[in-house]
Amino acid sequence: TEEAESLHVVLFPFLARGHIPAFLRLAALLHELRPGITVTLVSTARLLASLTLPATTPPIRLQALPFAPADHGLPPGAESLADLHVHQFIAFFQASESLRPAFEAFVSGLRSPVCIIADAFFAWTADVARARGAFHAVFLPGGAFGNAVFFSVWEHLPHTLPAAGDVFPLPDFPSVVLHRAQIPRYMLAATGADPWTAFFRRVISSCRKTDAVLVNTVQELESSGLDMLKRSFGVQPWPIGPILAPPTSSDSQDDASIIRWLDAHPPRSVLYVSFGSQNSINAGQMTQLALGLEASGRPFLWVLRPPLGLDATDGFKSEWLPSGFEERTAKANRGLLVRGWAPQVRILAHPSTGAFMSHCGWNSILESLCHGVPLIGWPLGAEQFFNAMLVAEWGVCVEVARGNMESSAVASGAVAETVGTVMGETAKGDEMRRNAAVIARAMAAAWEGPRGSSAASLEGFLRCVEMS
Ligand code: UDP
Repeated sequence: TEEAESLHVVLFPFLARGHIPAFLRLAALLHELRPGITVTLVSTARLLASLTLPATTPPIRLQALPFAPADHGLPPGAESLADLHVHQFIAFFQASESLRPAFEAFVSGLRSPVCIIADAFFAWTADVARARGAFHAVFLPGGAFGNAVFFSVWEHLPHTLPAAGDVFPLPDFPSVVLHRAQIPRYMLAATGADPWTAFFRRVISSCRKTDAVLVNTVQELESSGLDMLKRSFGVQPWPIGPILAPPTSSDSQDDASIIRWLDAHPPRSVLYVSFGSQNSINAGQMTQLALGLEASGRPFLWVLRPPLGLDATDGFKSEWLPSGFEERTAKANRGLLVRGWAPQVRILAHPSTGAFMSHCGWNSILESLCHGVPLIGWPLGAEQFFNAMLVAEWGVCVEVARGNMESSAVASGAVAETVGTVMGETAKGDEMRRNAAVIARAMAAAWEGPRGSSAASLEGFLRCVEMS
């Protein structure tokens, strides 16, 4: 039958609500290029039930796999990293590998030609694909350079090598020189014989069995990062970004009042401050940041998360901010403090937003730069340190601080100064805005018509799948 002939794409994002949207947007792009394909999204029943699926034609099928986190010493309902503490992550990664038999059974029951597109943490699906004669790709929702460096650090633990001082090169990419402060906490503690390293090295060796890597980046912006990935994994990386979150369509009162607040400020005058959905700065840093924002004399919109290690169950407490800070900034109409979730894409698209102080999560970077908004970087974990290096090299980011460990001090004076440099009429600020505008154009061009580099790349990937 025709159904048996047409391609069946099986998407397998990592188990976290935040990882699924990029896969869904990838599904929509695949449908646009090949309306006849079938797409199945595989995850746990709980995560699938929590999804709001976009109206795509043909619709996305859902396949739930049984998952028993309690068997791995995790809380019974834990089906996402967002529900867990960092010390439970490794058990969760290990538990996720228990999905293999059910995934294998599902894939072997499919009749049509199959292409599995999985998260890097599920790169073990490459073995399943090989056994079934299916095509296999890993989809990296992050950038090329950040991922390549992240994997390389796990593979070599360069900071543990005898010759390493505070600064050391990556053994496989010697032109990339890192500082110890750019190594995330759990990597710093790695010895090579620990479960984190073992897990990541297994991921890396599985990634080397895949047939292709799809990356949420743009060829013109990341040619050297893409070359690094190619060398790391030994397969063709296909840059298909930016794959962006659509603006949240929430019409909540809170969102409306945030936008009204922005409306009341002059163009490019507001600093937006947010450290993403997972990371927090520590209590001392929060004080210095608050004082620095106040001293900068510029309007700011700050999305507050409780400081590192402090319980968030009762929401954000005013005592975590310097005394009188909230009243002073509100009175002068200088600062808007948002507790909880902010409509980030709408904020970055707003003409009043002039710069973004960010933890350099990849989505935040793409969302900022596609609107030509330069960055003030404060990377906190994972590959954010390496993303920050990349955007600094693009000339669109100045790093204000690194990390949230006790050793990562930041002074209010330095915060105020950096904000002034980036947002003011300085040579550096002007240059950053020009560079950000060039990048915004490159990002738009990548998906403008079938000849845009990312559109052509996804088409190239599909042809490669079809010819396999
Ligand atoms: N985000 C948002 N409102 C918030 C915080 C985050 O809309 O208050 C969105 C943001 O637009 C982005 C994503 O959450 O799409 C965060 O992704 P990123 O890769 O930047 O960082 P992560 O949260 O994964 O560390």
